[in-house]
Amino acid sequence: MHHASLYSKLENRRAQCRVCLRRCAIPEGALGWCKTRINKGGKIFSLTYGRVSSIMVSPVEVKPMFHFLPGSNWLSVGSVGCNFTCPGCQNWEIAHAVPDIKGSYCIQGQDKKIQAEYLAPEVLIEISHRERVEGLSFTYNEPTLWVEYAQRAMTLAKEAGLSTNWVTNGYLTSDALDYVGNCLDAFRVDIKGFSEKTYRLIGGIVDYRDILEAVRRAKLRWGMHVELVTNIIPGVNDDRRELTNLVGWIIRELGAGTPWHITRFTPQHQWSGYPATSIEALEDIYRMAKQEGLHYPYIGNVSGHPFANTVCSSCGELLIDRREAGSVVVRLSGSSCPGCGALIPGRFEQKA
Ligand code: SF4
Repeated sequence: MHHASLYSKLENRRAQCRVCLRRCAIPEGALGWCKTRINKGGKIFSLTYGRVSSIMVSPVEVKPMFHFLPGSNWLSVGSVGCNFTCPGCQNWEIAHAVPDIKGSYCIQGQDKKIQAEYLAPEVLIEISHRERVEGLSFTYNEPTLWVEYAQRAMTLAKEAGLSTNWVTNGYLTSDALDYVGNCLDAFRVDIKGFSEKTYRLIGGIVDYRDILEAVRRAKLRWGMHVELVTNIIPGVNDDRRELTNLVGWIIRELGAGTPWHITRFTPQHQWSGYPATSIEALEDIYRMAKQEGLHYPYIGNVSGHPFANTVCSSCGELLIDRREAGSVVVRLSGSSCPGCGALIPGRFEQKA
C-alpha cells in the first residue's frame, strides 16, 4: 500500500479522494468506487502503486497516436482497475478487476487470484533504456487510478530523456491533472460521445463536460499534445448530429489540427452480441469531420485503410503512409510538409 497524495480529511475519519471526478468520500476501512483506494485510519492509500498487470513494448500507432513520434516504440504499462465500467471494454479482465492489499487481483466473476508484480518506478526506466524505446506509456487500464506511481515514473522518465503518454478516459480532477502536468507530454483521450445519454450508457457517468474541460486544460494550461479517439458503437454513439457537435467542439476548443481517431468497434465483453461497426459508417463519419473543417480525422481498427494515412491538410501531399500493417513511412521534413511547407501539428522529430 502507498499513502495517496490527493485526498482531504473529513469528519469521523472519513476521507475524500481527489483523484478522479467521482470524488469518493470514503469511510474508514472502506474502498473507493474503483476499489483501488482504501481508507485506513482516516488516510487514503493506493492498492495498485507499482502493481503492474501488463507490460510490453509497442508502437505508438497502436495507442492510437499518429502525430507524436510516428513509428516509435514505447514501453507500455498498466495495472488494474477503472473508474468506468464500459460494457464493451476490450481490457475488461484487468480494467474491471479487483485488487487486494497484497498486490493480487481477481478478474470479475472469478475467484482465482493473480499476483501483479511490483516494479519500482526506477525499474521502468531501466527497462526503457534496455529496450531502447522513445517513451513510457501508461495504458491498458485507467492511468488516473495509479497517478502517484505514474507521476514518479514519468518524472524519472523526463530526467532520462524519455517521452511520456497516457491513454485515458479523461475522467480526472484538475488536481490530478496538475499533479502530472509537467511530466506528461501526450494525452490520448477517449471521447465516448457528446451527450449525457451516451456517457451514461457507455461510461456510467453524466458529467462528461468535465472530461472536455480536462482535455482543454491538458492542452492549454500544460501544453500537452492531445489526440482523441471515439470508438463508434452501432446504435450506441453513432448519432450523426451528436458526432457533428463533437467535431465542432474539437475545432472550437482544441483547434482544427487536433487528430481525431474514429475507430471500429468489435464485439467485446457484455456487448459481444453487438455488431461490429461497418466500414461505410466510419467513412461517412470521416467525411463529415472533413466537411466540418477538421484537418486530421483518421479511421482506426481497419487494417490498410487509406484514411489511416496522414495527408497534408493544405496541399494533399501524402505525409505518413500506414497502409501496410505494421509499416509507417514518414515523408515529412521535420514537422513540415515537403510539398508546400505547411507546419503539421504534433511532434515528428526523432532522437538520433
Ligand atoms: S480514484 Fe476515483 S473512483 Fe477511485 S477512490 Fe478516488 S475518486 Fe473514487
